[in-house]
Amino acid sequence: MSKQSNKNIYTLSDMECRKCKNKMMCVSHKEIKAKQLRQPFYYSQWYKCTCGWMLNLEEDKVWNDGTVVEAQKQEEEQLSFLNQI
Ligand SMILES: [Zn+2]
Repeated sequence: MSKQSNKNIYTLSDMECRKCKNKMMCVSHKEIKAKQLRQPFYYSQWYKCTCGWMLNLEEDKVWNDGTVVEAQKQEEEQLSFLNQI
């Protein structure tokens, strides 16, 4: 497996940086991992500038719905069951 496989995807966006007026890069997850799903929400994409300015848009916010929480709960219950054997 190459090292790049875990990296985020960068694409040039039309978003202008508020600080330096350069075009910002749009960053998105290559893969949604447990790390993102553990949080109440995550951003499907966000913007990053070479000057260090970062921008999160409310519209890119993804709330983790109850299904995910339920699935994790079940997993924990199964684990505690296994520990009792
Ligand atoms: Zn900038």
